[in-house]
Amino acid sequence: MAKYIFVTGGVTSSLGKGIFAASLAKLLQARGYRVTIQKFDPYINVDPGTLNPYEHGECYVTEDGAETDLDLGHYERFLNIPTSQANNVTTGRVYQTVINKEREGAYLGKTVQVIPHITDEIKRRMLLLGKTGEFDIVITEIGGTVGDIEALPYIETLRQIRWEKEEHDTLVCHLTLIPYLKAAKELKTKPTQHSVKELQTIGVRPDILVCRTELPLTDDMRKKLALFCNVDRGSVIQALDVDTIYAVPLEMQKEHLDITVLKKLQLSADNPIDLTKWQQFLKKLRHPKGEVRIGLVGKYIELQDAYKSIHESFIHAGVSNNCDVIVEPIHSEHIDEFNVEEKLGHLQGVLVAPGFGTRGIEGKITAIKYVRENNIPFFGICLGMQCAVIEYARNVLGMKDAHSTEMDPSTTHTVIDMMEAQKKIKNKGGTMRLGAYRCDLAPNSISKKLYGSEHISERHRHRFEFNNKYLEQFEAAGMIAVGKNPDNNLVEIVEIPTHPHFVGVQFHPELKSTVDNPHPLFVGFVKAAVNFNADLKKKAEVKEGSQATANS
Ligand code: GLN
Repeated sequence: MAKYIFVTGGVTSSLGKGIFAASLAKLLQARGYRVTIQKFDPYINVDPGTLNPYEHGECYVTEDGAETDLDLGHYERFLNIPTSQANNVTTGRVYQTVINKEREGAYLGKTVQVIPHITDEIKRRMLLLGKTGEFDIVITEIGGTVGDIEALPYIETLRQIRWEKEEHDTLVCHLTLIPYLKAAKELKTKPTQHSVKELQTIGVRPDILVCRTELPLTDDMRKKLALFCNVDRGSVIQALDVDTIYAVPLEMQKEHLDITVLKKLQLSADNPIDLTKWQQFLKKLRHPKGEVRIGLVGKYIELQDAYKSIHESFIHAGVSNNCDVIVEPIHSEHIDEFNVEEKLGHLQGVLVAPGFGTRGIEGKITAIKYVRENNIPFFGICLGMQCAVIEYARNVLGMKDAHSTEMDPSTTHTVIDMMEAQKKIKNKGGTMRLGAYRCDLAPNSISKKLYGSEHISERHRHRFEFNNKYLEQFEAAGMIAVGKNPDNNLVEIVEIPTHPHFVGVQFHPELKSTVDNPHPLFVGFVKAAVNFNADLKKKAEVKEGSQATANS
């Protein structure tokens, strides 16, 4: 029988419920428990796949091809185990199931209502992963903030689950904010008291209060919070702001969160906690030996969350290379042939980001031409790889109007074209080529060297693809398809062997980088950037040296 921990949020959104859930899970995992985390989102979209990144940040894709909330990325990066479709549920999905059942006549003439039908469906999904036998503990993060109308059915379901189960089988952690009022020079507990009251009105008493705060809580405040929010003294957990999300598990450990949770769930805390690897990672992250500056060319750069997994992958890869990766976001719409040198000339590597639609596409192509011609390490992901193909077609193969049919359906050189299987599809939601597909690597490629294997599997999210009609021409001119899907020959990776590091991938490697397993392609790219730096310096030294000889 699995135990269930629920994470709710109060006072404001963006308190970091996802990071908290992942950190708690990490601690429990480090004590030997099998843990998974799931997220319930109260919006009506069936999944976030149809949401603009400006609305909801990156769409995270699981192995089984679910388009999910970006918090699932944190879960995987922290726990190093894959999530699945079952780990992310939205109100839209719940209603869709209930309405489909109603149409099938499954409710036998009954009036279908939020309670019990919607809550029953939420309950079924909340308990699902716990019934597989694969996990000892299931952590459920409930999106939104307590008090939101749309979150009500979820809180009601959690109340029912608590009521049905033994007291020690469930637990509620309520994440809240203790704001600091500058004028009064004081931390304030009132908003937290209100949010707990709100929860209690619906019949849910939190067991643990996790308090986000800029300043340490005093003993008196802890006492006051415990008393007024009706929790034990030891269950008021301070969550101070930290320099990196990867420090949160250790901060939570300092507050004895794991022990408090295990005690309440009547689980043994005898197993010593093993976080050695995590601590080493954090130490390296905080004490880099050098730095590299890498440009991230994309069109959603105003919003960090839009490229969340890419940013995190750079952190992992930086630690592997003992260096700080400074990611410089560059808006692709602002790059043109006149300013490209000024925008990219000082960088040691450029990553061209995934994306959809025409906006900013020419800037991406211009950036790629520049890095290709100047031997700057290049990494193209999904649309970034497609742009690299378009650039090569236009500027090396002389196909001046080469394009992707996504941007220009009437182009004569359709070097990137819609996949055959996609052409009949009308619906937008959940219909791309999604999830894990196999890929075989060419023996002498950079990719093969980095993966250390000829057979890999990576996650995808796209409709368009390299047009194999042009493959021979590309390869004859020097851009090689070094990664192919063994089942249908789709091109998954292109490289230019005459360039020091030019790798474009149709899939999304950023979705598989974790603290324990930094992604080899990111590690290799950062390494190439470090080496490029060294080469540059060497060149400069040689130049200085020869000047010195000339002057003497
Ligand atoms: N828009 C491109 C396609 O659908 C690339 C998608 C992406 O970058 N994720 O193929």
